[in-house]
Amino acid sequence: APVILWFRRDLRLADNPALNHAAETGRPILPVYIHDMGPGVRRPGAASLWWLDKSLRALDDSLKARGSRLILRSGDSEGELRRLIDETGADAVFMNRLFDPDAFARDADIAHALKEDGVEVKGWNGSLLCRPGGVMTGSGGPYKVFTPFMKALLAKAEAPPHTLGPREIDTPTSVKSEAVDDWSLHPDKPDWSGGFDWTPGEAGASEALSDFLSKGLKTYSVGRDRPGEPGSSRLSPHLHWGELHPWRVVEQVRKAASDGRVPAAEADKFVAELGWRDFSTQLLHHFPRMTDTAFRPEYDAMPWLTDIKGFNAWKKGLTGYPIVDAGMRQLWTTGWMHNRVRMIVASFLVKDLLIDWRKGEAWFWDTLVDADLGNNVQNWQWIAGSSADASPYFRVFNPTTQGAKFDAKGQYVRRWVPEIAALPDKWIHAPWTAPAEVLRDAGIGLGRDYPKPIVDHGEARDRALDALKVVTRSR
Ligand code: FAD
Repeated sequence: APVILWFRRDLRLADNPALNHAAETGRPILPVYIHDMGPGVRRPGAASLWWLDKSLRALDDSLKARGSRLILRSGDSEGELRRLIDETGADAVFMNRLFDPDAFARDADIAHALKEDGVEVKGWNGSLLCRPGGVMTGSGGPYKVFTPFMKALLAKAEAPPHTLGPREIDTPTSVKSEAVDDWSLHPDKPDWSGGFDWTPGEAGASEALSDFLSKGLKTYSVGRDRPGEPGSSRLSPHLHWGELHPWRVVEQVRKAASDGRVPAAEADKFVAELGWRDFSTQLLHHFPRMTDTAFRPEYDAMPWLTDIKGFNAWKKGLTGYPIVDAGMRQLWTTGWMHNRVRMIVASFLVKDLLIDWRKGEAWFWDTLVDADLGNNVQNWQWIAGSSADASPYFRVFNPTTQGAKFDAKGQYVRRWVPEIAALPDKWIHAPWTAPAEVLRDAGIGLGRDYPKPIVDHGEARDRALDALKVVTRSR
């Protein structure tokens, strides 16, 4: 009887534990992807679906090159698995686990139900350096602070051996498949994906990694904070969709250091950042309520505002703060935003506008190609001061000084906010402070070509700190 290989967010053939185990059985393999937009598990946002569309096609091509193909089904996951079992006589389902709380719970229910009917169901970790629960504190609980977590992880977790997957995959030809074209995964109303410049899929992921190893990694610790330069890896969507194994990334990065191609400190810094991905996922896994409530419950007492105008200005990149607007437009145009700028725009929403972090999280979820439940929720709560290991709430990012510090020459702002590109560097992050004649010479009418700031940062900061008193009082 064939084995069902249930692909989800492990869209690759190399270093894929479920595939390797399926191949070891020596039985025919049915590689399936089920497009399940039902309730229970947070649905991928529009930008994620754009990625998924391309990544599934790439996976299908790789499978075809090995004599197999990807079987596509849509509908309720358990129902579709059962249908496939009935159609083919398969008696085993192998998968790489998802650790987000909602997907994890659903998969456990499916496994339980199928096992009761005599189907073998097995899962492996194919996405994290260490499965949640793999490292715990001395007293047996989950880590809530990043640094000791990462230290323990690096001491304990081991890289799995590198595998390329079977050269030939035997898949029965008679099994029906839907067509990805029929799923309409592209955003249509509106289709804003024209500026997305990515190569989803396993080959694209390897290329992105090689590119980073030869360029950005050398100067990562500084370069990662310069949004105007290509200093980070841009591996996030590839990692989210499982197009490469994080251990392969770590190994290659460490090898670049041991070969003397990059300084060891740069490699270490990168591995630590990658560790935040594991940290965030395990935190959400152990504290599922954190998906939509503050990890520190007193932060749910924040007197959030319903500022629809402010929220819209933020989404559209029309706040009058160039670095914020540049970030929001980069997000809309490319499906990605630089990490430093994600922190600045998130702080602006939560503190300067006093809008609930959940609203920002939802917007990111819909527009990021790397939207990831653990990373998105944990980072939003980090900014909002409510996560387990968070930036203190009273640390309010100043968009002007952040811009001047990390985009000193204004390359980033000029790229994404072209209407103020002619301003000299001195005023590029604070156009409202430019003398009238400077604005005139640059041909910029503030309030006409580019908005005046929608809030005064100093006043907004005071208001945010005032709001925090409600939280500290309720503690
Ligand atoms: P690199 O600097 O090259 O880092 C390599 C990898 O490490 C990343 O691809 C990512 O997988 C991981 N990583 C790096 N920084 C973090 C971090 N702070 N938290 C978790 N993992 C990290 N990242 C997502 O993948 N999905 C999200 O939905 C997401 N939402 C975010 C929301 C906010 C408000 C903030 C401040 C950050 C968010 N991040 C998210 C984290 C981070 O911004 C991105 O992972 C990073 O910008 C991706 O670019 P890169 O691959 O070039 O990063």
